Amino acid sequence: MNSTLTAVMMAGLALGPALPAWASGHSQNGYQAPAADTITREGYTLVFINRQPDFDTTTRQRMIDVFFTVYPKEANRFNTHTAQKVVFTIDPDYDGVAETGNDKVRYNPKWLKAHPEDIDVVTHEAMHIVQAYTHPVPGWLTEGIADYVRYVYGVNNQKGNWRLPDLKPGQNYTNAYRITARFLVWVEKNHSGTVDRLDKAAREGKYTSQIWTTLTGKTVDELWKDYSQNPQLELTYR
Ligand SMILES: [Zn+2]
Repeated sequence: MNSTLTAVMMAGLALGPALPAWASGHSQNGYQAPAADTITREGYTLVFINRQPDFDTTTRQRMIDVFFTVYPKEANRFNTHTAQKVVFTIDPDYDGVAETGNDKVRYNPKWLKAHPEDIDVVTHEAMHIVQAYTHPVPGWLTEGIADYVRYVYGVNNQKGNWRLPDLKPGQNYTNAYRITARFLVWVEKNHSGTVDRLDKAAREGKYTSQIWTTLTGKTVDELWKDYSQNPQLELTYR
């Protein structure tokens, strides 16, 4: 990250609502999204830092609205002690889709421009903040739960053409993301509350593979075998 720019941005943030003219949202070229903005709703604060000058203002507003729609729901269900202040940065230097750490999410503006309807990437990343796992947890479970939550609480999955894929031979619960998420939907259908308890155990450093048996009476491999033999689910998307 460019250290001069960082210093300027921090100065802008420190000034709070009285942002300098360069960050006011207006430029000689017309309207631009503000470089930094702090929004608080119902006890949660989102600091939105935009480092892409021509970042679409509609996408920006939708990201903010999705955050304040889904984050309180994720928090209420999984972790009411989750961070009250979250930072989003639109970062042109970041090549992935999005990544989360220390209550901060970086987003790739090029990717968002190419996939403007895939706005529930916010729902997925916000769940990583709620997860707040500080102990070792299998990556497939962390990402599977985040996509399970995107399925349950996402607001635009239908338009974003985001689906949980039908089970195919050769898949396994360790494939992570949507494949694991679909399995977790099935697990919830048969053993309600399991995802909540897995998430809680993971946050408390109590996750082991044994917990599946404790919670459901079956190992995760046995559950996957049952799922593979009867994978039908009625899935609905918003
Ligand atoms: Zn993720």
